[in-house]
Amino acid sequence: MSLNIQDIRASFPILHQEVNGKPLVYLDNAATTQKPLSVIEALDYYYKTDNSNIHRGAHTLADRATRKYENTRELIQKFIGAKEVEEVIFTKGTTESINLVASSFGRKFVKKGDEVIISTLEHHSNIVPWQLLCEEVGAILKVIPINDKGEIIFEEFEKLLTSKTKLVSIVHVSNALGTINPVEEIIAKAHAVGAKVMLDGAQSSSHLTIDVQKLDCDFFAFSAHKIYGPTGLGVLYGKREVLESMPPYQGGGEMIKEVSFEKTTFNEIPFKFEAGTPNIGDVIAFEKALEFVNTVGKKQIVDHENELLAYATEKLSSIKGFIPYGTADNKVSVLSFLIQGMHPFDVGMMLDAGGIAVRTGHHCTQPLMNRFRIEGTVRASFSVYNTLEEVDRLYESVSKIAKLKN
Ligand code: PLP
Repeated sequence: MSLNIQDIRASFPILHQEVNGKPLVYLDNAATTQKPLSVIEALDYYYKTDNSNIHRGAHTLADRATRKYENTRELIQKFIGAKEVEEVIFTKGTTESINLVASSFGRKFVKKGDEVIISTLEHHSNIVPWQLLCEEVGAILKVIPINDKGEIIFEEFEKLLTSKTKLVSIVHVSNALGTINPVEEIIAKAHAVGAKVMLDGAQSSSHLTIDVQKLDCDFFAFSAHKIYGPTGLGVLYGKREVLESMPPYQGGGEMIKEVSFEKTTFNEIPFKFEAGTPNIGDVIAFEKALEFVNTVGKKQIVDHENELLAYATEKLSSIKGFIPYGTADNKVSVLSFLIQGMHPFDVGMMLDAGGIAVRTGHHCTQPLMNRFRIEGTVRASFSVYNTLEEVDRLYESVSKIAKLKN
């Protein structure tokens, strides 16, 4: 059964506006997706009817808010296939989830001379926390190289693995190029030398079906805002035994069992890692984003996105001066490109003048851009609510822009 995209679009109010006198074409979904009305209304409803601090309250509002907050946690558990609900920790986003692991797991288990492996494809948020850790403890950060298509070179990864590898932290799907990494094989190889594996799922959570038990990753991080949910909210999944072996990340309320000036005992997971009042309203609203994905169906979403990607790739490839970046065989709906002789920022500005929103620049992947000896790209990233007609608009605009120099 094919999707009714117009019905889906109807539930995203932001899409129905003109930008610079033209109907908006929103193709910046890898940066953040738009929110369905159900998410916006859930946020509104929460602050109008249920707003209360959770877990500690003895009153009805607190009870309602707590139940809804924990309900989202259960939905996430199912969404990513976690074994237990306690393995789902709320954070501010993928960035904080990675920092949590670097700070807590890293400081406890990564020692002087140990090794952490990342890849050339990483977002800065999966580079800098490991650099900080390695600098602090005297560990070594190793980087898996990629080929010209934007795929990691697996044999090089195997060569980097040693008995000193404590952690492999790798992006599941590249935000800049769309490459899907062979994470199951990476995880198996890393586990064989006793290393733990963290997956940066910021992009994969919206494009792939996630089953953390099947993947057998030790950690999985993602952000709600890239999967139709609110900003400033993310998830860290961790295997129970790994999370239990880690010290707290931040100290404060909620993460304790008992506090005295002499000694503090810590709460059980997940609360041990959730110090302070969390982002209650957004967690509750996120439930509606997951419901949206479940109702439409991940497979249907991905099939549609792949159709848009194939169509866009074919059309734009016919433009004189079009240079694609990221041509992996296995990729999601991200089309990164340059126009011969033009700065990506100028291309982005001209597209915006025609109501088309794309991202330009290094996409927080400067080392990856350096690998291709470029400053940045123009990136069009497609989501479930995009249409073939919108791809046509992109094609027509890029064609005109490219003619200026080609
Ligand atoms: N990792 C990847 C692959 C991303 O695409 C992003 C966001 O663009 C992040 C990490 C950081 O996510 P957040 O800014 O939501 O913490």
